[in-house]
Amino acid sequence: MGIFCKIAAMLGFGSCDKEDAETVAPVEPVKTQETVTKPQPKEVVNTVETNEKKYVLIGAGPASVRAAETLRKADASCSITMIGLEKESPYSRMALPYYLSGMIEDTGTHLRKGEGHFEGLGINHVFAKVDKIDAQKHNVTVDNGDVYDYDKLMIATGSRPANSPFPGADNKGVVNCWTLEDGREILNTIKPGSKVALLGAGFVASIIIEAMLKRGVDLTVMMGRTGRMVSRMMDETAGDMIKSWCEAKGVTTILPASIKSIEAGPALKRDDDSLTEYDLIIVATGVYSNIEFLEGSGIETDSGILVDAGLRTNVDDIFAAGDVAQGLDFSTGGQSVHAIQPTAVDHGRIAAVNMMGGAAAYKGSLCMNVLDTAGLVSTSFGSWGGVEGGETATLVDLENYKYIRLNFKDDLLVGAITVGRTDSIGVMRGLIQSEVSLGDWKEKLTEDPTLLMNAYLSRSLDIARN
Ligand SMILES: Cc1cc2nc3c(=O)[nH]c(=O)nc-3n(C[C@H](O)[C@H](O)[C@H](O)COP(=O)(O)OP(=O)(O)OC[C@H]3O[C@@H](n4cnc5c(N)ncnc54)[C@H](O)[C@@H]3O)c2cc1C
Repeated sequence: MGIFCKIAAMLGFGSCDKEDAETVAPVEPVKTQETVTKPQPKEVVNTVETNEKKYVLIGAGPASVRAAETLRKADASCSITMIGLEKESPYSRMALPYYLSGMIEDTGTHLRKGEGHFEGLGINHVFAKVDKIDAQKHNVTVDNGDVYDYDKLMIATGSRPANSPFPGADNKGVVNCWTLEDGREILNTIKPGSKVALLGAGFVASIIIEAMLKRGVDLTVMMGRTGRMVSRMMDETAGDMIKSWCEAKGVTTILPASIKSIEAGPALKRDDDSLTEYDLIIVATGVYSNIEFLEGSGIETDSGILVDAGLRTNVDDIFAAGDVAQGLDFSTGGQSVHAIQPTAVDHGRIAAVNMMGGAAAYKGSLCMNVLDTAGLVSTSFGSWGGVEGGETATLVDLENYKYIRLNFKDDLLVGAITVGRTDSIGVMRGLIQSEVSLGDWKEKLTEDPTLLMNAYLSRSLDIARN
């Protein structure tokens, strides 16, 4: 099992390439017409001679890969076109920190390892940018003018890094950490002792700290607006623990209020006009969904593309999945963007089933974060900040970097946070998602939140007996 799969496996995520590969049965290699036809500009490219179904997937990340394979598994002759921006085999962004730390090669990030995997399945992987969707004509146009007709379309264009909050982000030596190409640029620039500034202290920033420390760089992290780490997925106690852990590992932290701009060098200009030069500045200050190209398509968006439990948009025959989709939220019953790979993979599979005329419904994505920040593992699940009218139990050991927070609504566990403990995180997720009534275990957990495993086993046995 790959290193980056271990925590995912512990949680029972469907996020790892190995599990994906195992759950997709091998099918006979199929050669559809588009795998052998050279695209002709400004013509319909994916023409098929028979009345095979035409599926077009925009994006070539985990959501699209899972959708493409689900379609192929069910229908050996349909036409599948998967269009993505990167001119390389589809890869997992969640593996980037492991590539940066040297645990895997760049090819280790690939979602499917076999040479010619997609061609073998008759999945036409096109490298292009979709500029326009014409829902009336049932086609999409890419940046070289090629047109792809569809019977059913899935949009899985993910998100992109937000711009730096400071002017000067286009200076040489300023990068994001979003694509494999970004990863290569980072590794080509740094060496032991390099001075690196990381702008942002959210999810992406927190998980690349480990890689930077392993590479022996002199690291400065600039906190987010709140002055806290991972403030959008952990409470103050957890965020402060992670911050002090990083500082104890030699990371310098600074507050955003003290920065004015990024200057050539690259350098950070402080509010007293002093300049600090760095070898590299990595911008990790949040993300936006890739939805701009949908303008005029009639597809409804909010912070992402609004979809129902079947991953359908408001426009006939168009579905959306993954980071770009704002779908059913397990905890709130509303619609949220949960930008994590397990959600993308689930979305891709369910959208594919429904594109083929099935009636699959998603139970809703669970907010789920697992971070390894320089060796300190922290997690948050569901309503991690608690719910109105709910109750909370906490156990804090600041000195040893250990923390558990359990949030209840009546006798249900609805959210949780842990720092420095990995013993019961699978159980936490299980209790929240299965909505197991805790009965008198709620009282016991309030007194001692470490009894989660006992509560889970006991309640599961009670339920099995009745
Ligand atoms: C550094 C990092 C670490 C992460 N770590 C974790 C983790 O530990 N656990 C976890 O669960 N998640 C993690 N994530 C998040 C995870 O990578 C995403 O949730 C996942 O990639 C979403 O898959 P997706 O298919 O929806 O989108 P993406 O993987 O973003 O793929 C989007 C695809 O759309 C394409 N595209 C975009 N616009 C267009 C267009 N106009 N035309 C054609 N193609 C287009 C892109 O080229 C790409 O192929 C991490 C992300 C990063 C950046």
